[in-house]
Amino acid sequence: MKVLVVGGGGREHALVWKISQSKNVDKIYCAPGNGGIRQIAECVDIPAENVEGLLEFAFENKIDLTVVGPEGPLTLGIVDRFRAAGLRVFGPDAKGAMLEGSKAYSKDFMIRHGIPTAKYETFHEAGKAKEMIDQFGFPVVIKADGLAAGKGVIIAGTKEEALEAITYVMEDKKFGEAGARVVVEEFLEGKEASILAFLDGKIAIPMVSAQDYKRALDGDGGLNTGGMGAISPAIHYSEEVRKQAEETVIQKTVEALKAEGIDYHGVLYFGLMLTKQGPKVIEFNARFGDPETEVVLMRLETDIVRIFNACIDGKLGELDIKWSPKTAVCVVAAAGGYPGEFVKGHEITGYENKGEHAVVFHAGTKMENKAILTNGGRVLVVSSTGDSAESARSYVYERLSKISFTNMHFRKDIGI
Ligand code: AMP
Repeated sequence: MKVLVVGGGGREHALVWKISQSKNVDKIYCAPGNGGIRQIAECVDIPAENVEGLLEFAFENKIDLTVVGPEGPLTLGIVDRFRAAGLRVFGPDAKGAMLEGSKAYSKDFMIRHGIPTAKYETFHEAGKAKEMIDQFGFPVVIKADGLAAGKGVIIAGTKEEALEAITYVMEDKKFGEAGARVVVEEFLEGKEASILAFLDGKIAIPMVSAQDYKRALDGDGGLNTGGMGAISPAIHYSEEVRKQAEETVIQKTVEALKAEGIDYHGVLYFGLMLTKQGPKVIEFNARFGDPETEVVLMRLETDIVRIFNACIDGKLGELDIKWSPKTAVCVVAAAGGYPGEFVKGHEITGYENKGEHAVVFHAGTKMENKAILTNGGRVLVVSSTGDSAESARSYVYERLSKISFTNMHFRKDIGI
């Protein structure tokens, strides 16, 4: 069969890599792909958000299955368009993707259905938000309502910082229109875990847990990023917490989706805070997380295309999805300056995958005149499994030591 993967980051490289291991797949296309993906799939120069262009391509090339990586096309309704045209596509429709597309909507959804989450209020005016800020106590969390590439969240330690944050998001519009509304939230204390689950419109099957390292610098210093590394399983996700999360969060969410008539076929990501009162949802994502995908898929032993098909057909219950008991770790090699300003176009050396234990996924790269150049803030993601976190870490850092580009930066404490 022919598969089209939509997107061009580390997550999509990991997806293409896993799909390429399926016996049923003859040909993989990726739109737009990147410098690494093009070594294992045919890259097509169509941006991920050009839904009509992708539809035309899928028709012309008789694509049997389309897998959507990023949230942008999902919120634009790519799944609705493909389904209406009779094409098989993996991902939620626009209604399902709203769980990620609007924080205000997803918070309201959680409250309506008793899914545990932080107390919050949505504001349409900066003045009102500033007036009400005291009631949350400090620290307080200020979130731009719309999509902001994982960066639209500010944790304000004091009232002064909170007022500045509201000005920054709502008046200075630093996240653009995503900040037309803000969600102000109670600060939750605890350790985080990311749980991705496959949904087939009837049931949810959680994948193995993961933990994302969001801050730019070692020791969780610096700014929030799209993610600097990950480990699977999540360090604090004990068996007891798992049971609690599956009952109070995941199962409840499946019932809530049914109650609201949302026919969700795809991956739903639960960003959890493991608080003293139990797991609470920080956010939903309507797709595979990045970089969580780069660790979780390292542990998947079942053919991923069979899983995608089962999700589309409502047949997940018939599958027995197998996972490796090993630990997986990934570390992101980022451009110096990221998540602030950074320069693109530096040549990368030592990135080739030659069958070593660790795998190099490309996040922001492109090929030019046979050279691979940096083309984004997060450039490469090196992933490995091991019998322990320590052994997985050692494979990853050993592999990273052979990669180089100007101003390359990575965290040295992932998985500790
Ligand atoms: P989000 O984009 O909503 O996942 O938020 C990004 C990060 O901000 C999360 O992974 C947390 O580390 C942090 N965060 C978000 N909401 C809260 C909250 N209510 N309490 C504490 N930390 C939060």
